[in-house]
Amino acid sequence: LDFLKPCDVERYINQELKPKLSGSTECNDDVNLLVNFLLEELPLPVSHVIRGGSYGKSTCIRGHSDIDMVVFVENFSLVEGTAQCSLNMVQFIKDLKKRLQNSLLATRVLMSDVTPLALRFQWKCVKNDHIHHVDVLPCNDLLGPRPTQEDKKAIYRRIENCKNSLQLQLYSAALLQLQVEFVRRKPAPLRDLMRLVKHWKQTSFGENSKRLPNSYTLELITVHVWENHGKPLHFKFLHAFASILEQLIKYEDLCVAWNENYFLKSLWVQQALTEHRKNLLPIILDPANPLNNVCASVNAWDEVAYVAQQSLAKP
Ligand SMILES: [Zn+2]
Repeated sequence: LDFLKPCDVERYINQELKPKLSGSTECNDDVNLLVNFLLEELPLPVSHVIRGGSYGKSTCIRGHSDIDMVVFVENFSLVEGTAQCSLNMVQFIKDLKKRLQNSLLATRVLMSDVTPLALRFQWKCVKNDHIHHVDVLPCNDLLGPRPTQEDKKAIYRRIENCKNSLQLQLYSAALLQLQVEFVRRKPAPLRDLMRLVKHWKQTSFGENSKRLPNSYTLELITVHVWENHGKPLHFKFLHAFASILEQLIKYEDLCVAWNENYFLKSLWVQQALTEHRKNLLPIILDPANPLNNVCASVNAWDEVAYVAQQSLAKP
């Protein structure tokens, strides 16, 4: 990436980072096999399946496409009552694993470590012979098909009062669709820019025990910088990329919230702003959830700023 001329960056994104066009439709057919399995082969009725991760958001880099699938199970109490909830969860994941291993899809699946919340495995796409990292999470459909602002507010209130980490994760799984929509609705060139930023992270940081900003955080920072520049539909990738690096250097200034799903005047947002003014810590509120500051888990901003500075200094 370091040696590219401006005009080459676009070609680089198209040729190296984006999944091949034909490949991605083949992926769709292939991933649909898995979705259909989840819809039809489970003992409990599944109302629908959400595809998230870089695959669902259309921001994946070739060869690094992860898929978070949230399976909305009907008549299944996951959210109420902690003990019963985790029991249901464990049982569901165990059962799903067994059924998948006994199905026609078994040869395509390589199971990974079990997590308390999700079934995790690698899925082999047949036609062009690559893998996707897949997490399948069972959840209740708390939002419903066409959630109003009131429906969302009700969930945010439940999150606010929730003390249990397992349940908090279930709430955020229920909100995944809102995250996917937020990113997917952005214009294609912007999603290409996100690919470039994520590629920069993958190639610029060594093995690291610290917590760097995750993909979603980088996607949101990309959106923020783009909006600050007047949401241009056409832009020069190298200039735009440089603006994002500059923002990462000035990470302390980050204080962002979006009003797609909640009001900026709401107490949650106002509290976060006060927090930002008091502590000068970066704040990016998840557009899907005003109680989630996606920067909170990052503990390596200094390193991010340093590497961004180095990258910017290169010709
Ligand atoms: Zn694929």
